[in-house]
Amino acid sequence: MTEVFRAIFLWLPRQLMAESGILRLEKARRVELKKFLTWFFGISGIALLAITLFLLADSWTSMGKMPSGAWLTKAEASENYGDGQFQNHIPEQQPDVLEVTQRWFGPNAAVVEPTSPPPIEKRTRADFNAEKGLRATWLGHSTMLIEIDGKRILTDPVWGERVSPFSHFGPIRFHEPPLPRDEVPVLDAILISHDHYDHLDEFTVMAFKTRNTKYFVPLGVGSHLEYWGVPRDQIVELDWWEEAKIDGITLAAVPSRHFSGRQVMDRNKTQWASWVVKSKNHSVFFSGDTAMHRDFVKIGHEYGPFDATFMEVGAYNQLWADVHLGPEQAVSAHKQVGGGIMFPVHWGTFNLALHAWTEPAERLAVAAKEQNVKVVIPKPGQIIDLADPPKKLDRWWPEVPWETAAQHPVVSSGL
Ligand SMILES: [Zn+2]
Ligand SMILES: [Zn+2]
Repeated sequence: MTEVFRAIFLWLPRQLMAESGILRLEKARRVELKKFLTWFFGISGIALLAITLFLLADSWTSMGKMPSGAWLTKAEASENYGDGQFQNHIPEQQPDVLEVTQRWFGPNAAVVEPTSPPPIEKRTRADFNAEKGLRATWLGHSTMLIEIDGKRILTDPVWGERVSPFSHFGPIRFHEPPLPRDEVPVLDAILISHDHYDHLDEFTVMAFKTRNTKYFVPLGVGSHLEYWGVPRDQIVELDWWEEAKIDGITLAAVPSRHFSGRQVMDRNKTQWASWVVKSKNHSVFFSGDTAMHRDFVKIGHEYGPFDATFMEVGAYNQLWADVHLGPEQAVSAHKQVGGGIMFPVHWGTFNLALHAWTEPAERLAVAAKEQNVKVVIPKPGQIIDLADPPKKLDRWWPEVPWETAAQHPVVSSGL
């Protein structure tokens, strides 16, 4: 067998050289060409190695750390863990990789990024001092600052410039954070939905780790946090349907349908979840990233109704409808959990899909009207008091072409 391979490997370059006429060149020219090729491939090889090493060094810490030791033991003990990874209740239909690649790198007429930064309402720490009631402030993408009965809870905090393991490549912010990182008020809890870069940001974790704030995270995610220096006693890992309490507030991790991973080897090694936040007087639901699933109804029975839901509406495509909801299914999920006012998240800050950047909001407005759901689409930084929400939809984003639900339906499988 080795002989066959050797014959092929020797024959092929010779054949190529013969075809290209190199072997017909006189000897001196051949030597010259050989020198050039050796130099060319040598330099290219060194350059490639240097780039690889640079990228590895650049991304090394942000890739986090796969669960091992006690983190892994805890993960393996979960009934949602099997075959060496976390599982969804409804398995994901694997998309056609070729089709995804073609769509991703092929021509795309959609306006996927704004031409100028969208408007934001700038905030400081002093704006967040509500002693009672329920207020919600969207700080971009999936970062919500929730003020509930005098407590402050932050979801999926991302202050980084890019959602990527690399500092110079990857999706970059459309707008600056409306609340500067150093202006974030004292927090009672940070909730993390899963370990994707647009939800778990090393830059932010590093900045917040000395603040003595507890992180509530799905199983396995604690491993990343500890690796970045968050003290172990500030990390609370919860499996689906597990609860924790902070000063009279219940935090519950509930099922979502998604996946996880920060590099090539760690797919689904950590869990993903949606979160319920329930105080004496109020409750909210934060979807994290999820496709449609059957547990929304159960979440509604166990914890609903909710004053507000923060539902993911962006980064969808029918090709990956088993990992993201899309606006129409987000409205259905909001109704299933028993949501009052719906807030969209996971849109408007980073370009993570192929649809127009405004499309999630446009389609949400249509779907909410059709399904009779009250929706608020705030600007980044706009504080919404749930006791007095805006009466009318404020269209603060520009008009750009977008596809309707009929033109590009997003429907999860297996329901
Ligand atoms: Zn995700
Ligand atoms: Zn996401």
